[in-house]
This record gives sequence, structure tokens and C-alpha cells, in this order.
Amino acid sequence: MEKQQVETLKRILANKQQCIGIIVHTNPDGDAIGSSLGLYRFLKVFDYPDVHVIAPNDYASFLHWIPGNDQVTVATKNEDKAQQVIAGAGILFCLDFNGFGRTEQLANALSDSKAVKVMIDHHPQPEDGFDIVFSDTNASSTAELVYELITSIHDEDAIDTLTAQCIYAGIVTDTGSFSYGCNNPRTYEIVARLIEKGVDGEKIHRLLFSKYTESRMRLLGYCLSERLVVMPEFQAAYIHLTKKDLATYNYITGDTEGVVNYAMNIEGIRLAALFTEEDDHVKVSLRSTGNMDVNLLARQHFNGGGHKNAAGGKSFQDMNNTLRAFVSLVKKGI
Ligand code: 5GP
Ligand code: MN
Repeated sequence: MEKQQVETLKRILANKQQCIGIIVHTNPDGDAIGSSLGLYRFLKVFDYPDVHVIAPNDYASFLHWIPGNDQVTVATKNEDKAQQVIAGAGILFCLDFNGFGRTEQLANALSDSKAVKVMIDHHPQPEDGFDIVFSDTNASSTAELVYELITSIHDEDAIDTLTAQCIYAGIVTDTGSFSYGCNNPRTYEIVARLIEKGVDGEKIHRLLFSKYTESRMRLLGYCLSERLVVMPEFQAAYIHLTKKDLATYNYITGDTEGVVNYAMNIEGIRLAALFTEEDDHVKVSLRSTGNMDVNLLARQHFNGGGHKNAAGGKSFQDMNNTLRAFVSLVKKGI
């Protein structure tokens, strides 16, 4: 954490009466919710009376156990409150994203807001528009950065068990249970401190990863047996799901989370994709290993972005044309 930035933030946080907004990206994942609720809990423990977490849209039910979840305002369900907080806040913490566009329908309000905007994020290529920036692509997760920030503002005592649980949830989801993006000792040092704070890592793992409904599990089976296409000569694999598929398996938000990783787990595969049909676009989820840069692929071809090895975006072509375009890119060597 850059000292001067921390000092600036500390000065601004001296005013406890102001409205504080904590905003995450659209389709929030475990890191977005874990990091924002960790920061929320910290501010509540330190008696900030007017703190609000805003998610642009709904998220998976396996994240609902995270402490403070009932305090999250989901903008698609309560647009007025979300807009009010953004317009009226003195500080807006922007977590797990680095460009206003990632908040979709809230982006204009965000750029219009007079609040001090604080980015806490670990994605590459941060955009302008933020006043204080904590951006570190080496961090496993935004939750890890929230840990660093809280302990820089105060000390380790500022993290209680509930804050630790939130942060742990962010780290464990964004690293695929410590399987990527965490090859550095610091992540494990932080995790050790979180366990000391009372986190039950095994319990949290069960809450996050062993909560499949039967239909979600069968949808995964369908993806792998009926929809997986492997292109071994190009070290690529992909899966697609139509709206009809989703309806057949009673899809709810979060049910396709993790599906793309199964394609990635095939020996020899360096690029995997999941295409999911939505109302006005096809959602694209990309994963890779090594030097294959899916952030670039998502930016150049799918109106998105992300990390080098995990990115996402949207296609505004229909499913068949989207798949055709992807296959042609793969055959060209991207
Ligand atoms: P997922 O495939 O799990 O939806 O997303 C993987 C990664 O890509 C996450 O880090 C997420 O923040 C990023 N990502 C997903 N969709 C988009 C998008 O539409 N735009 C950008 N810039 N990043 C995205
Ligand atoms: Mn993240």
C-alpha cells in the first residue's frame, strides 16, 4: 500500500458522518462481495453510521452466507437507493473493478458523483476517473488488498472474525481454492492471520463450493457430456449454453460459475471458453494458462476484459455467429 495514498484516505475517513458507498462490478463474484463486505464490516466496527454496499445486479446464492450480505443493496431491485447513495456519498469505494463501465447502469451516476472515488482492485489497465488508487495486479484478489488497506489504516486488531471471514471468502474464490493467482508468500501469510482471527477455512469451503442444488449439478453434467467441444490441435475447448438449456435445468444466477474451469482441466488445454445466452447478448467467459492472454482476447473481440488468465465479456452476435467467430480466432492462433 502506498503510504501517501493511505494517509490521504485516513484524512478523508476522519469525517465519520459522511455517507460512504462501497460499489462492486456487475455480476459480482466472491471476491467482489467478500472484499466489499470485509470493508463494510471494518467501517461498521469503527462506528461509521452511514455505509452502504451497492451491487449493480444479483449474485450467486452460495455467497449469501457472507457476513453483512443482508445489508447489500442490489441496484436492479432498488435502483433509487443505489442512485441516491452514489449521488450523495462523500466517499465511494470501488472494489474489484477499475473502470466505471464495469458497473453498467450505475456508470453514469458514478462518473457524475462528486464523491472521492477510491479504487481497490487487482485487474490490469486501470482507467482514469478515480481520486485514490490502490491497484496491484500481483495481489491474488481485491479481498487481499482490503486486508492490506485495513491493516495499513489501523493494525491487525482492526480485523475481527467477521471481517476475516469476508476477506477469506474473497481470497478463496478468486484463487480457485488456492490454485491460481496466488503464487506468492504474502497471500498465505494473510490467510494465516485470517485463520488466527477465527476463520474456519474448511467450513467456508463447504459453504462456497458444496452447496449445489441437484439441478445445478445436472447442468454441469450436461455441459460436460453434451456441450463440451474440444479442439486438441489448438489446445482449446469450449462450451455453450442456450436460454433453453438454462430453462431446462431451472437455472438461477451463479449456476454456471466454475463450469469453464472444467474445460480448462483437460490435459493439454490452454484456452477454455463458456458462452451463455442472455436476453440481449451472449456472455463470454474465458480462461487460459501461461502466456495466452485472454484479457486481450476479451478486450479486442468480446467487449470485455479481466485478467491475463481469466477474463470475460459480451458478444452482440447470436450464439451461432459468436461460436463461429471464436472458432475462427482459435484456428488463426488468436
Ligand atoms: P467470469 O468469467 O468469471 O465472469 O469473469 C472472469 C474475470 O473477467 C473476472 O476477473 C471479471 O472481473 C472479468 N470480467 C468478466 N466480465 C467482464 C466484462 O464484461 N468486462 C471486463 N472488463 N471484465 C470482465
Ligand atoms: Mn477479483
